[in-house]
Amino acid sequence: MKPLSRITEKFTESVIREMTRICDAVGGYNLSQGFPDFESPAKVKNAAIKAILGGYNQYPVTFGEPKLRKAIVKKAWSFNRIRCNPETDITVTCGATEAMIATLKAVINPGEEIVIFEPFYENYGPDGILSGAKPRYVSLYPPDWKYYSKELSAAFNRKTKAVIINTPNNPTGKVFTRQELEEIASLCARWDCLAVTDEIYEHITYDEEKHISMASLNGMAHRTVTINSISKTYSVTGWRVGWAIADSRITSRIRKVHDFLTVGAPTPFQEAAAFALGMPAAYYRRLRSRYEKSREFLFNLLVETGFRPFMPKGAYYIMAGIGDLMKKLDIRDDFSFSKKLIEMTGVATVPGTSFYSSLGKGRDQIRFCFCKKQQTLDNVKKGLMRLKNA
Ligand code: GLN
Repeated sequence: MKPLSRITEKFTESVIREMTRICDAVGGYNLSQGFPDFESPAKVKNAAIKAILGGYNQYPVTFGEPKLRKAIVKKAWSFNRIRCNPETDITVTCGATEAMIATLKAVINPGEEIVIFEPFYENYGPDGILSGAKPRYVSLYPPDWKYYSKELSAAFNRKTKAVIINTPNNPTGKVFTRQELEEIASLCARWDCLAVTDEIYEHITYDEEKHISMASLNGMAHRTVTINSISKTYSVTGWRVGWAIADSRITSRIRKVHDFLTVGAPTPFQEAAAFALGMPAAYYRRLRSRYEKSREFLFNLLVETGFRPFMPKGAYYIMAGIGDLMKKLDIRDDFSFSKKLIEMTGVATVPGTSFYSSLGKGRDQIRFCFCKKQQTLDNVKKGLMRLKNA
């Protein structure tokens, strides 16, 4: 047989999703893939059931059902301070995942570059490869996950087409400040490139942190693609409804790619998404305070059991140093550590190297997610406590 696509040799299947399969096989506690083990609000689920029974079961408008696009416009203005037109500026996709790859496919030409902050959400690596972009990585340094301005500006040049920003950030929990976003914006203007922002955790911020949308900054609306989804905010990661908001010229390209990739996101879930976007302010407050408690619980537990966790400011992950425990258990790398951890404690995590561009980085870190019921976290505690006597 002739060789299959060479491009697919350049990346592996997702480690995050592989860890879920390993976890399920041993009946462990899944703190690897970021999805809640508690239910979405009954009202949101009923909206989906009602849509199915009410006949919303055929293809949707390819770039999004009108009701959902209108709801996105309303929310984009009230929460994100982004003005957009439902007819020309929105593409509803199969999750933020499709929005990101469709966007990169729609804007990148061969030889162009994208800037990615590292550590980064696993998908951005393969997204870059599949769209033919050359990645340039800018390091975020613990404990605060700050970048150096010098390193940031050195990553931009005339080949730069886009910078990918994920705020609040997976896996670090960093919430980009206004000052940081302004600095990135000025580089985008200087090098005439786009900002592609993944804002899927926008409602999950802690303490005094506030989410700021890049597209709301002066002069950035026409050069930003804002990606979002209902997955994390309404705890429905399996529904696969996301979207990209962008200037009409960019949107027309994204819509073409999206149309031929997937035709559309599931119709009844788009109806339910339109309903969910209208949830009252109290819903988001409760979501935040629930995650605040889980963050506290897991952070303290990790300190107690010998990890070196970095306190996240947003999203629902904790990156933790494992150097001391690796020594104690005589383990050399993050993968072996994650495997050993499931065996010993039943707790599944994601090895740190999955979030870095080279295997040399992240070897002494692993990622935990805490979007789980307190009961699950109590069981995790029982498991992790075994490390103390190891
Ligand atoms: N964002 C989630 C994580 O990092 C996973 C999303 C997915 O698997 N599509 O774990």
